[in-house]
Amino acid sequence: MTQEYDVVVVGSGAGAMAAAVLAARAGVRVVVLEKTDRLGGTSAYSGAACWLPGSAVQQRAGVPDSTASARTYLASLLGEEEAERREAFLEAAPRVVAALEEDPAIRFEWQAFPDYFDRPGRVPGGRSFVPTPLPAEEIGALADLVRPAVDRDRAGLGHAAGPLGQGRALIGRMLLALDRSGHGEVVTGADVGALVEEDGRVVGVEAVVDGERRRYTGRHGVVLGCGGFERDADARARHGVPGDAAWTMAPAGSNTGDALEAAVRLGAATTLMDEGWWCPGIAMPDGSASFTLGFRGGLVVDSRGRRYANESLPYDQFGRQMAADPVRLPSYVVFDGRSGGRLPAISLPGGTPEEHLAAGTWHRADTLAGLAELVGLPVAELTASVARFNDLAAAGEDTDLGRGRDEYDRYFADPVLVPVTEPPFTAARLVLSDLGTKGGLVTDAEARVLDGEGRPLPGLYAVGNASASLTGRVYPGPGAPIGTAMAFALRAVEDLRTGAGLSAAAAGAC
Ligand SMILES: Cc1cc2nc3c(=O)[nH]c(=O)nc-3n(C[C@H](O)[C@H](O)[C@H](O)COP(=O)(O)OP(=O)(O)OC[C@H]3O[C@@H](n4cnc5c(N)ncnc54)[C@H](O)[C@@H]3O)c2cc1C
Repeated sequence: MTQEYDVVVVGSGAGAMAAAVLAARAGVRVVVLEKTDRLGGTSAYSGAACWLPGSAVQQRAGVPDSTASARTYLASLLGEEEAERREAFLEAAPRVVAALEEDPAIRFEWQAFPDYFDRPGRVPGGRSFVPTPLPAEEIGALADLVRPAVDRDRAGLGHAAGPLGQGRALIGRMLLALDRSGHGEVVTGADVGALVEEDGRVVGVEAVVDGERRRYTGRHGVVLGCGGFERDADARARHGVPGDAAWTMAPAGSNTGDALEAAVRLGAATTLMDEGWWCPGIAMPDGSASFTLGFRGGLVVDSRGRRYANESLPYDQFGRQMAADPVRLPSYVVFDGRSGGRLPAISLPGGTPEEHLAAGTWHRADTLAGLAELVGLPVAELTASVARFNDLAAAGEDTDLGRGRDEYDRYFADPVLVPVTEPPFTAARLVLSDLGTKGGLVTDAEARVLDGEGRPLPGLYAVGNASASLTGRVYPGPGAPIGTAMAFALRAVEDLRTGAGLSAAAAGAC
């Protein structure tokens, strides 16, 4: 069975949905093919912070952000790396916001969340923004198509009552705009495993839907927005990705890199394949992990009982610290009774202390020595680490690791140096989790997928974690994954529509 469209979008995360909306609003017939039964992937789980500098959203909020300062900031982090794609991103960032906000269904608002590095060009309070919450009555029954928040989704529940927030608002708003455009269709349960090439040009995909192989043609091109390969244990091992497929935050059954592999079979090049957007993850009783950030107490020690990094670092930087030494895998969050037995941090989802204690992912004792014995940590090391930490907390300055010095450290709680003295003491196992892999298909400034010689594969585009990240081994600020995905979605759609790289007939029709 073949179904014909102008553009085929594979996946339904932020980049995919942005591409679909922008193409559909331009009058191009689009189909979104999503492998699972819900739209939104990890993007729906996310806070939906968007790092898109220089847009009207920051201007409306009076935030002193600009394209120029973002350029300075990125240059201080990335040097000469990816200079061309970086410029393309900076150029597209304000425009994609304007293009999306042209639709009455889509609206963003600035929200304080500091950039992750104290570098030139950083905006105090941060420059990223979020979608405005989406009232349930505005999206209506379409909400059932949107993946719920991670804690509810993992528990098999639907959306909480009230407006859709964060990633659900982002996906929901773009779904609404796609629906209203009259030019978009969505197929869930459509697992894309192959690309269709004709005369050296990608003109569609093959997907399995309801056990049946179907062909979807996109005469103007195919946009891959199908995430990374974080859910594929074999591919992770092959590419040397630290962590574990069971500990990723991507939804169950989602990102196994099949469409990415299909592009590789056509000659696409890949890079950064050992990379991810990292985060510490509380080990959960069922073997999964939960994104953990915003420590407001406790300390983290390695499996020798030693503290090794500022616990309040931005999560990607803390994850990189964990990955740097095998003795840090696992680590333990050690905290005391003043948090009422609950983890003094945000954990998505958290699980209850009782569940963790019963499963052995947490241990609890009335003394630090007793705790060390239960966990299997050296007693002398753990007690010395906690004593040293308590001295630093009493002095109000972490002269060992600098916790609390940066604006980001104090974003979630201030002070963050809280002594660990009140029994009972708890140790929670911490593993290396991720928000997705960030290596993938090599793309150019128009999000065109390139081969090993740097030549575009005509008709094929990639955005989001399906493509190798513009930010390399750095996570510059909140919203970098989603912001870059949406900016390159605009560039891809413009390239499709202006016909660059299209056959003359197709370009004329577009
Ligand atoms: C709790 C949490 C908070 C976060 N907060 C932020 C934030 O505020 N800002 C930010 O920028 N990032 C945030 N992130 C990270 C961010 O969500 C992801 O890195 C990003 O959304 C990935 O987008 P993507 O479109 O590449 O993949 P996804 O959003 O995962 O979408 C990929 C989709 O493609 C589908 N798919 C995969 N393979 C196929 C196939 N073969 N055929 C058809 N469909 C397929 C998947 O099922 C999935 O639905 C957060 C992550 C988490 C978990």
